[in-house]
Amino acid sequence: MEYKGLYMGRVLHVDLTAAKTWTKPLDPKLVADFIGGWGIDNRLAYDYVRFGADPLAPEQPIIIGCGVFNGTVAPGSSKSFATTVCPASGTVSTWVGSLTFGARLRAAGYDHMVITGRAPKPVYLKLRDDDVEICDAGELWGQKDTLDTHEWLLDKHGRAASTLCIGPAGENRVKIAIALVDKFGTMGRTMAANLGSKNLKAIVVDGSHDVRLADAKRFMRTANQLMERAMTDRNRDNWRNLALYFVFPLWENAGYFTRHNARETWPRDEVIERFGQEQYKKLRGRLLGCTSCLTCDKAIIQLKEEFPGTGVPFSTPLDPPWAFGLRCEAGSIEKAYKCGELANRYGIDMMTWSAIFDWATDLYHRGILTREDTGGFDLSRRDFGMVCRLLEMTAKREGFGDVLAQGFLGAIERIGRGSENHALHIKGTEFDFDPRANYALETFGAMTNVRPCHDMPVTGLTVAKGRDPAFFARVVPGMGFSKEAMERIFTPDGFDLGRFLAHFETWGITLNIFGLCFRMQVAALYNINTVAELYVAATGIEKSPQDILDAAERAYNLARAMNALRGFSRKDDRLPDFVFTQPIKRPDRGTELSLMNYQGTKVLTKEDVDRDLDSYYEERGWTRNGIPGKEVLARYGLGFAAEALERGGLYK
Ligand code: SF4
Repeated sequence: MEYKGLYMGRVLHVDLTAAKTWTKPLDPKLVADFIGGWGIDNRLAYDYVRFGADPLAPEQPIIIGCGVFNGTVAPGSSKSFATTVCPASGTVSTWVGSLTFGARLRAAGYDHMVITGRAPKPVYLKLRDDDVEICDAGELWGQKDTLDTHEWLLDKHGRAASTLCIGPAGENRVKIAIALVDKFGTMGRTMAANLGSKNLKAIVVDGSHDVRLADAKRFMRTANQLMERAMTDRNRDNWRNLALYFVFPLWENAGYFTRHNARETWPRDEVIERFGQEQYKKLRGRLLGCTSCLTCDKAIIQLKEEFPGTGVPFSTPLDPPWAFGLRCEAGSIEKAYKCGELANRYGIDMMTWSAIFDWATDLYHRGILTREDTGGFDLSRRDFGMVCRLLEMTAKREGFGDVLAQGFLGAIERIGRGSENHALHIKGTEFDFDPRANYALETFGAMTNVRPCHDMPVTGLTVAKGRDPAFFARVVPGMGFSKEAMERIFTPDGFDLGRFLAHFETWGITLNIFGLCFRMQVAALYNINTVAELYVAATGIEKSPQDILDAAERAYNLARAMNALRGFSRKDDRLPDFVFTQPIKRPDRGTELSLMNYQGTKVLTKEDVDRDLDSYYEERGWTRNGIPGKEVLARYGLGFAAEALERGGLYK
């Protein structure tokens, strides 16, 4: 089929074992049902994932896809996707990347890629229009980190290309290894081991195809309005000047900045003085951003006193201080950024690594880990040197570094001795936001999410605590919430969290289908009507807002069904036991943070959280065990998945 706009109409297949590549037409039925991006990625994954096989088995696929609006001027339409089986959790997961990768993949003439097999020796993949080549990576593998690999590839293949690279951690199949897009954007998180297991060091992509729009005038009418809104957003300067640091005071106040394995929060004065906005502003250099973004929030960090002359780009400049300054207590903000640079060079997910390291330190204090276990490291005296050394040992899988390299689940298995009772994770992935600090869409969503918790679009709706329910009732119709759904969700004194999340996730997946950034400054520009209008104008394919929401629902149900086939169910959608019994202490305030409802009016028990889960499953049309029901699967044309679940005995 000839597509009139956006779609290039081709899926690239790469079999690394056989060193063969070929293209297939993009099936119009896939487009009709799943639209693109996250949706088509997951539909392709259903066909290619081996549900019973190891995440890093050669036959497991890596599906890479453009977001539908990649390459257009729709603000923040930069997100591309990778779907595979997560080595840290075992779930079928979709990772979200940014910067220019999706736009360049489309310019090369492809909507999606399916990579299977394992190359007999290290390779990288070069795509430039029809010139697709599996190239020898002998000069890169074991020689160059992520940043140097990126530079090497651009020197060789042109500075306009985009790259997806792994570092030593990915090569060594570290389960919490991360792949970087264009040197500093994260295809977050934890899928670099999948690339490493295929002996695939990098993908470099460029092309000459222009983005086609079926009705450019109509598309630009809406796009211009969105750009105008982005440019006149009253917080635009704050986002640009401070990036995610803009919300630092809010998050500090909420209690997200914890230490000692989330046993207490940092004292406010100290955290502000050492790691706050003023410190960040002193180091912030040039702003960076994704294609089409008007509120760029990435930056070069210019280290001055301790590492003079070092300028390092970061995708989320708050992450290194949070990971290494607050969790690892590696020293000053400059040292934290230096650790962040190292983590990126090795290709290690800094947020996950820091949470595991902080947990290991807690185990050490409790006597569960000893100096013998850590290979001589005295974790009670953490410092910059120790963090740097252990990052390196993680990347190389040496000594105690190999324990950290396993991720939470693997490390728990290795350590044993009740270590799991102190691990703040769900399905092997740490929380960004501790549920005791704020039990809301983002934290409950981390619990129910079929994938590692970070890749769920959060959009920040309830990251701020205690918002008036009237505010939500005002904004959610724009996300496509129906009147009937709102009647079920909102109560006079708050909301039903489970039902709220079910619909909020659908909006998140909608953004992901179209490749729209879910950071709040971008996500807030869009509503379901503008998304539908842009899509129809760009492609000439008629889709109503409801059709789009249905596609998102369809994709999400299929993703959950895939994970049910991998053995995930209600038993995995659970908070760690200790969050019900151990509050986070706030020593400087003389208070504590217990698990409470969003309104802060009730301390929650396991039964309360169970009830939220019941509501969530019911709203989604899933069984009490969290398996997508036959009826909902039939409604979305996913009878084949229901049959597979039936065959697997999952409806018993
Ligand atoms: S807000 Fe940040 S991540 Fe999102 S599109 Fe803009 S630069 Fe990219």
